[in-house]
Amino acid sequence: MHINTLREAPAEAEIPSHVWLLRSGMIRRLASGVYGFMPLGYRSVRKIEEIVRQEMDAKGAQEIHMSAIQPAELWKESGRWFVMGPEMWRLKDRREREFCLGPTHEEIFTDIVKNEVSSYRQLPMNLYQIQTKYRDEARPRFGLMRAREFVMKDAYSFDRDREGLDRSYEAMFDAYMRVFARCGLRFRAVEADSGTMGGNASHEFQALAENGESEMVCCEACGMAVTTERARVADAPAETEAALPAETVYTPGTKTIEDVAAYLGLTRDRTMKALLFAVSGEDGALSEYVIAFLRGDRELNMTKLINCLGVPEHAVAFADEASVEAETGCVCGFTGPMGLRGCRVVVDSELPGQRNLCAGANKADHHIKNVNYGRDYTAEHITDLKLIRDGDPCPACGAPLKAARGVEVGQIYKLGTKYSESMGAYYKDENMQDRAIVMGSYGIGVTRTLAAVVEQNHDDDGILWPVSVAPYHVIVTIVKHGDAAQTALAERIYAALLDAGAEALLDDRDERAGVKFKDADLFGIPVRITVGKKAADGIVEYRLRREKEAVEKSSDDAVADALRLIEAERFGPAER
Ligand code: ATP
Ligand code: MG
Repeated sequence: MHINTLREAPAEAEIPSHVWLLRSGMIRRLASGVYGFMPLGYRSVRKIEEIVRQEMDAKGAQEIHMSAIQPAELWKESGRWFVMGPEMWRLKDRREREFCLGPTHEEIFTDIVKNEVSSYRQLPMNLYQIQTKYRDEARPRFGLMRAREFVMKDAYSFDRDREGLDRSYEAMFDAYMRVFARCGLRFRAVEADSGTMGGNASHEFQALAENGESEMVCCEACGMAVTTERARVADAPAETEAALPAETVYTPGTKTIEDVAAYLGLTRDRTMKALLFAVSGEDGALSEYVIAFLRGDRELNMTKLINCLGVPEHAVAFADEASVEAETGCVCGFTGPMGLRGCRVVVDSELPGQRNLCAGANKADHHIKNVNYGRDYTAEHITDLKLIRDGDPCPACGAPLKAARGVEVGQIYKLGTKYSESMGAYYKDENMQDRAIVMGSYGIGVTRTLAAVVEQNHDDDGILWPVSVAPYHVIVTIVKHGDAAQTALAERIYAALLDAGAEALLDDRDERAGVKFKDADLFGIPVRITVGKKAADGIVEYRLRREKEAVEKSSDDAVADALRLIEAERFGPAER
């Protein structure tokens, strides 16, 4: 068997899951964000796939397998050829026809159903696949967590109406809860933003992890959990004090909110901050400037701004100072809402209720005191732009929220008719009327889930696989290579385990016992049965990877205990 463990983690590995997957020899890196799976690693990938498959099938979803290569035309029909931006791997064939490597498959599945479904009698339907996806991520990192080639399960539901979609969504939600529990993850379902996918309702499934890239807030009082991107932030109560006359003041060198607040002796919540962006169009050229205003003590939630503008994320960048000043009349570091031109102004919903704030004067080294919405400025867009903070009140019940981090292992979306309408996927109802098919989309990052399991289940010696996703259940280790009694007993145990349907490894390598123990700990097989000195008496050592101590047992008891554990946990860990 090919096993190649590493003593040291390669320098690029920053977080435990990446370190342990590399060191245990489960994965190998080929290029940035591109990984291959070695024998043990690939067995675990297939375990997760199988759990996903069983739970999808249990909900009546049907597995198919579409190509990774997708013609550009379908993406142009839906409008996402541009929206996906540089994250999409694009290629041309020898005749210069455009294709991409699928980052997701809404367009492809919609096209299939458009061609195959014509009547209400064929609905509802849920199709899924487990397939390799390609995304040229801006920052591939953490190994399998944010890769550029990865395995995803993607499912698409097709219903006659909204009520049907609600039922399909509910079923997938339930399947996801079961999948991640069976993988042994501590996770939460959280309300999420639907991003470039479209639609109006979405949940992410977040495996809780300090190193996770996703941020969420959770309410311990009412159980509400929502991604930071999505979380509504209540406006501060409207103020009632009288508007004072506006007054331009000299504030030399005060380019930041901290500086100006300190200089004028104000708290930051008495000031306004400006953020300046340039938006580019489909041809890559500048299409407009956007200036967003928030109270000085707030942070901008970029997702909310992008949703308000209705442009793809990749099209928005910080504005170049000289050009934005020339075009809009702002002065960077001293930008205020009065007297701007040639730009879209977006104002946080809290600002109209605030009185007598201090804002930039659009003049170097000057600010204006007592700026008030309505009298001094107005805006095209007024919307919640605020980033939620740890301790902010829960939008549902008002109790203080707790910030948490996670790894997004799955996301589900109610798409509605966005794709069916843009791509022409209609069915005929009972009255022979054409109706747009109502869709949902449901993704699980299979290889990211593998990494999340390791992120949550490791110690200083390596991985602690839950039985349900372990590459093997039991490892039988011979202490002294070549010892006849030890070899005979180990082989008997190994055969008994295999006969009973357990997945077992026999470590009969010509290595020191210490090396074998280290390896077994590193790749984290849940049960180790060690056959050593007492083999002649039929006594072995039995050790669970998750427990420190080994116990001596008869070989029969060891086999029986191992089988009992496997039976209890092969479909997922016991309730925690
Ligand atoms: P993220 O916000 O992390 O970039 P996403 O929201 O773009 O992910 P989806 O389009 O919802 O991802 O894809 C479905 C699932 O695929 C995700 O929930 C995640 O588990 C997985 N996934 C997405 N991008 C990657 C990636 N670069 N590497 C590994 N898995 C990924
Ligand atoms: Mg997602």
